[in-house]
Amino acid sequence: MEVCELKRKRMIIAIDVEKCIGCGRCVNSCPTQALKLENGKAKLVDERLCDGFGSCIAVCPTNALYIEEREVEEFDWNILNKIDFEEFLNRLRRHYQPEEVVL
Ligand code: SF4
Repeated sequence: MEVCELKRKRMIIAIDVEKCIGCGRCVNSCPTQALKLENGKAKLVDERLCDGFGSCIAVCPTNALYIEEREVEEFDWNILNKIDFEEFLNRLRRHYQPEEVVL
């Protein structure tokens, strides 16, 4: 992925690290793998991987995730071509009960 210096205001995930308990549910629920756990807290790996739709918000047990508007790099739409949706769905099945999955 190329490094892009252009930034503009758009909606993107934000993490309240005080509320995060490091359960990893958001990491497993993100189709673009924009989140990871670091030192027991959720962290946005790369602004360009977050589409700002917030599928991770639904699975967070502590309401540590929210969407905010801030100046960040553009979403990399090419990432959509790289998603293995079968693997993503299997990951959701492994980690969540059916009633917990909001697609
Ligand atoms: S789902 Fe919520 S509590 Fe769990 S790691 Fe992600 S942000 Fe933290």
